[in-house]
Amino acid sequence: MCDCLFCKFVSGEIPVNKVYEDENMIVIRDINPQAKNHFLAIPKEHFKLLADATVKQIETVGKCLKKISELSDLLELKNGYRLVINQGDDAGQTVFHLHVHILSGQKMGWQPA
Ligand code: AMP
Ligand code: ZN
Repeated sequence: MCDCLFCKFVSGEIPVNKVYEDENMIVIRDINPQAKNHFLAIPKEHFKLLADATVKQIETVGKCLKKISELSDLLELKNGYRLVINQGDDAGQTVFHLHVHILSGQKMGWQPA
């Protein structure tokens, strides 16, 4: 049994407000927003890192990225947006189920530290 928060969101074991869902991913609002809009696109299949992913899983991530770009009104993307995939400790990854942060709705600076 998978003891992963995001798998529990995907399965419905832990209820979460989904702003979007399809066969590949769910999109939810981040509980600790870092921009006016901060969403998480969570692939339904569990894997921790891009480095761990199969080619098929990477193809699915690609489909998720394409779909995100098409959700312009829902995610308020029309003036630009930022996608972030944290990988490992130095990047501050805290949930070890690959996910894409979607930041939008405001001008953003660049603060890696
Ligand atoms: P990362 O640090 O890249 O692994 O991102 C994990 C993200 O999950 C963080 O931005 C958290 O704020 C977010 N998060 C953790 N728990 C929840 C939750 N219950 N609902 C929504 N977002 C969450
Ligand atoms: Zn998971």
